[in-house]
Amino acid sequence: MTVRAGREFLAIPGPTVMPDEVLQAMHRPALDIYSREMIALSDGLHRDLGTLFATKGRCYIHISNGHGAWESVISNVLSRGDKLLVLESGRFAIGWGHAAELMGAEVEVLKGDWRRAVRPDEVEARLRKDKNHEIKAIVIAQVDTASGVVNDIEAIGKAIRAAGHPALYMVDAVASLGCMPFEMDKWGIDVAMSGSQKGLMTPPGLGFVAANDRAQAVHKKANMRTPYWDWTEREGTEHYRRYAGTAPVHLLFAMRQAVDMLFAEGLENVFQRHRLLAEAVRRAVAVWAEGQVLGFNIAEAGERSDTVTTVTVSGDYDPLKLQHYCKEKCGVVLGMGIGDLQGQAFRIAHMGHVNAPMILGTLGVVEVGLNALQMPHGKGGLEAAVSYLGENVSA
Ligand SMILES: *Cc1c(COP(=O)(O)O)cnc(C)c1O
Repeated sequence: MTVRAGREFLAIPGPTVMPDEVLQAMHRPALDIYSREMIALSDGLHRDLGTLFATKGRCYIHISNGHGAWESVISNVLSRGDKLLVLESGRFAIGWGHAAELMGAEVEVLKGDWRRAVRPDEVEARLRKDKNHEIKAIVIAQVDTASGVVNDIEAIGKAIRAAGHPALYMVDAVASLGCMPFEMDKWGIDVAMSGSQKGLMTPPGLGFVAANDRAQAVHKKANMRTPYWDWTEREGTEHYRRYAGTAPVHLLFAMRQAVDMLFAEGLENVFQRHRLLAEAVRRAVAVWAEGQVLGFNIAEAGERSDTVTTVTVSGDYDPLKLQHYCKEKCGVVLGMGIGDLQGQAFRIAHMGHVNAPMILGTLGVVEVGLNALQMPHGKGGLEAAVSYLGENVSA
């Protein structure tokens, strides 16, 4: 017996739910990649990426996922042997650093932990010790999708400037762009990267990078540059070169539609929708936690991300069983714990094309699963989420 039918609902942090309009935007023939229409589409999206990142810097669209965009950044600004400082708060900045190491950089991890955000004062202290400026770049994820933390990117930018350190400040916004404020220029970020399949509601396959003048200057001398990623090769008006070959025409159609939808809703409204739905999830988790088995991975309430919530599961209870139940019986796919949290957590994504029925439905299904599997939990989590939205979404 199941109560699943119709569309499976993805509550995983990417790929996320794509609006029907985005899916439909791809249902058309390809364009002549040299046509004026194609150039206008591509130019418009590069411009709009600048708006999303809030930068006057140059934007690049690669045919890649987030890992590709990481590699683009590393290869374009580092030279072999350069030192990269990784700010740990989960898995993703570490993954970026790992790629850099394999490419020939020297990597130092500023030890953090999986239960909290990066501390700006610790960053400042480390940089002050680097008197010879051996550290050439610093990487961090705004939201770490594994731990569920949100880092204060603005405060860390200030800490880097307070230390008077010239390293490039490079931020992973894969799990946050288009979901929460991101101010590349205002926050002193030199390079930012993201991908299409999370907050931007577009199929996987596009990697985004933005780089300011400081990064462009470093790029000129970087020696890890390779043909596919090279920013200089990506410039000029010829669109065949922009994409290092044939443009990903259909993904661009999809992205155009998704970005139009975000701008039509208004970015501030999009961010507020994410805040409200994230808090609804947290209200439910807080109640479930009263059963002493489930809990928030991120200890401090203010450090929990508005795009994904990581819920720890303790004792002999298996989050994988809950995930299977929700998927096989109810058609809702939860994210699992990854990295250090493998087998010890599940994740509820609330990023991109999400609304009240999707989130309340997901929370309801989790409760169904907790009951069916007799996993101890405080009763009334869904009700707390409902009450919160009723009190905070004004009539
Ligand atoms: C998903 C994710 C990535 C990796 O993106 P892929 O498209 O899977 O390569 C990188 N960083 C963060 C923060 C992510 O959430």
